[in-house]
Amino acid sequence: MAKTTREVTCSFCGIRKQDAMMLIAGDGAHICDRCIAQANEILVEEMNLRKSKALQTTLKLIRPIEIKEHLDQYVIGQDDAKKVMAVAVYNHYKRLNQKMDKDEIELEKSNIIMVGETGTGKTLLAKTIAKILNVPFCICDATVLTEAGYVGEDVESILTRLLQAADYDVAAAERGIIYIDEIDKIARKSDNPSITRDVSGEGVQQALLKILEGTIVNVPPQGGRKHPDQKMIAVNTNNILFMCGGAFDGIQKKIANRLRTQTIGYKVNADEMEVDVNNLYKYITPQDLKSYGLIPELIGRLPVLTYLNPLDKETLLNILTEPKNALIKQYQKLFEYEDVELKFDDDVYQFIVDKANEFKLGARGLRSICEAIMLDAMFEIPSDKNEQKTLYISLEYAKHKFEKSDLKKLKAA
Ligand code: ADP
Repeated sequence: MAKTTREVTCSFCGIRKQDAMMLIAGDGAHICDRCIAQANEILVEEMNLRKSKALQTTLKLIRPIEIKEHLDQYVIGQDDAKKVMAVAVYNHYKRLNQKMDKDEIELEKSNIIMVGETGTGKTLLAKTIAKILNVPFCICDATVLTEAGYVGEDVESILTRLLQAADYDVAAAERGIIYIDEIDKIARKSDNPSITRDVSGEGVQQALLKILEGTIVNVPPQGGRKHPDQKMIAVNTNNILFMCGGAFDGIQKKIANRLRTQTIGYKVNADEMEVDVNNLYKYITPQDLKSYGLIPELIGRLPVLTYLNPLDKETLLNILTEPKNALIKQYQKLFEYEDVELKFDDDVYQFIVDKANEFKLGARGLRSICEAIMLDAMFEIPSDKNEQKTLYISLEYAKHKFEKSDLKKLKAA
């Protein structure tokens, strides 16, 4: 008897339906589960290749001046830090490209350390640079890191974060940027290196050394402690750019002492320039970091040292209104969605800045103060039956809302 139905097979590999786990039918063709998996692998590989090619072209295009111009859109002031970082980042990516030329002179990594009061824009700078470069970026806190074997996170965990930020694309992660916040908190507590075991300080610094310099680290993909049965992902840290930031509370005293011993009467150099005593951070040197408790090896692996200026009232005012995503612009956008135009009395800006300054909250405080002022309006406007088209925030309104807020109570307490 003649066969009436043709045997169904995979149109790619020819496997028969009964031998495959699954066969998906298309228009006059079939594909089996194994061919789907294989095609997917090829696709992922190709996409990664394209991504890293795209990455390379964008990296080549961004020169220090352009990097700084981008930064200017988001970060107010801090020109010195911006310049130093723009150059360091540019040189770092030059170094990445150099590998391909097999050049003889090996360029060293330009890992960066930023020193400045909290809330002055250290994280913002690092974040903005990563965004411009379109590379994976993660922030981690040095305070949670401990030496292997102690309660806390191993230093490898920072690479887990980067991998997660890169969607586990190892090639992309290997060109990413890691920002380590509060690096000052792992300073050695005592000048005597051998006094006792310093679990959270020197040990962590030692553990960071290798990662910063460039090595292949086996990273637990889900984080947590290393586990014998866990599958590890090997990550080469050679091309990862590290940026570290810290407030280094009290370092001003050390800087002042050094300046005083170096120069009589607070004169810095032959130009007889007066020392700016309100901003001693700007005179920071690697020597100060050492006397603060960072080990020389770690300082050596963070060759680019820069500082951030404290924020004065004028800068706070600019931060409130100027950057591309300034707070005021964000509130105006939120109200625009309700078809309401949001306008502020100029005095309101000054009021917000004064309160941020008074509460010693820095730029971070601007947000909480705005929130206290705007909360009721944001709560009521969406259900407003009168459909008002403009909301005008006067100084009286701002003061009234602020006085009523929990923030005010916080200050009273
Ligand atoms: P740091 O890391 O120095 O403690 P951040 O970068 O986290 O401070 O800053 C906290 C917030 O303050 C940022 O999200 C940003 O909105 C604002 N901010 C701080 N400094 C600046 C600045 N120079 N320009 C614009 N915004 C700033």
